[in-house]
Amino acid sequence: MAFEGLSERMQAVMSKLRGKGKVSEADVKEATREIRLALLEADVNFKVVKTFVNRVKERAVGQEVLKSLTPGQQVVKVVNEELTALMGTEQAKLVQANRPPTKIMMVGLQGAGKTTTSGKLVKYLQKQNRKSLLVAGDVYRPAAIKQLQVLGESLDTPVFSLGDQESPVKIAEQGLAEAKQEHVDYVIFDTAGRLHIDEKMMEELKQIREKVQPDEILLVVDAMTGQDAVNVAEHFNRELGLTGIVLTKLDGDTRGGAALSVKSVTDCPIKFVGMGEKSDALEPFHPERMASRILGMGDVLTLIEKAQSNVDAEKAKALERKMRTQSFTFDDFLDQLQQVRNMGPLEDMLGMLPGAGQMKGLKNMQVDEKQIGRIEAIIRSMTPYEKEHPEHINASRRKRIALGSGTNVQDVNRLLKQFDDMKKMMKKFSAMTKSKKKRKGFK
Ligand code: GDP
Repeated sequence: MAFEGLSERMQAVMSKLRGKGKVSEADVKEATREIRLALLEADVNFKVVKTFVNRVKERAVGQEVLKSLTPGQQVVKVVNEELTALMGTEQAKLVQANRPPTKIMMVGLQGAGKTTTSGKLVKYLQKQNRKSLLVAGDVYRPAAIKQLQVLGESLDTPVFSLGDQESPVKIAEQGLAEAKQEHVDYVIFDTAGRLHIDEKMMEELKQIREKVQPDEILLVVDAMTGQDAVNVAEHFNRELGLTGIVLTKLDGDTRGGAALSVKSVTDCPIKFVGMGEKSDALEPFHPERMASRILGMGDVLTLIEKAQSNVDAEKAKALERKMRTQSFTFDDFLDQLQQVRNMGPLEDMLGMLPGAGQMKGLKNMQVDEKQIGRIEAIIRSMTPYEKEHPEHINASRRKRIALGSGTNVQDVNRLLKQFDDMKKMMKKFSAMTKSKKKRKGFK
């Protein structure tokens, strides 16, 4: 998980401070020394670390802490605020042009995730009922055009291409004309990257910028490359004038240096972060939420948003009714599992719960995705009758289900037992709520 080392160390410093009734200068000194080391180890730019630590120090020995009734908490608050400020204070939103189409130019080095992110943006905009056109301008990387076409198809979104023999500038120009003709809301230009920054690439990008006059120039950088990502961002910003940064691969075990330094170094905001390879693994970047996540204070807002956009409200209502009337079947159970899975890896979700990182049991808990896969396989091997009447699954049926799902009879037994326990619990629960309602005079 990203930020793991940093988060652990910062949380240790914070928990030492939190309990303190009085915070002496020596306490602050020690805390800032530890914060400094933690940040440097997370590969945060050393100048950024220096400024950050000085600001925290200054505020932590100042009036706002001294006068506070809970000085320890107050210092934690200061660290949280400064960490947020480091990453940009407020969420930087995607620009929307006064007259459509809004033109987004994607730039970045090869392999950073530019093409993938172009697709993710389409999906993100679709959720807001916005239509896009993708323009395939990466003529140098073999298969980039095909990759974009496949993405476009899966997202039901048109892709404009002139093959890989035309100049990227001409492709961009004609792509824009097409976007206007088709009256799409957004046109996203995938441009050609190189393995390293070079003159020719920059020249080409400048010409494209000149021709299409983009509303957004988004740089896609790989968070795993740490300070290299920051250097790349600095260079692109100087040459092209970026409007935003997309940090990809934040689902990996990046130490966090790029995320924490890039805004301060370039003064260009992070607008999105990539959290996986799939099209919906793009999150708008919220500095304050990221700071809270790093300090172990959780990110409940993102968790709620994820739940809201992935859980079908109608289904949830139907489920509630089924639970109440105890007509919950294995099909419903499977459905539930799928909805939870759509929200992303369970481990990431745990990371958004306040204090989850510090709970002893949770910390070492590996959420076993394979186990969930096995449960799904078992349920899928049941007949429709069995899914509705698990109580009729006898020994020979259990054997058949185990064989069909590539598991063994013990696994099937365990699942049936768990399901039975769950139903019993629901029964108790619904009896409890009924009597409570009665007591309160509900009908
Ligand atoms: P491009 O050369 O910049 O267009 O790079 P691609 O879009 O082809 O991405 C390069 C690789 O990075 C692909 O294998 C992507 O699936 C992967 N990738 C892109 N974004 C992410 C991300 O946020 N997380 C992870 N884990 N992989 C990503």
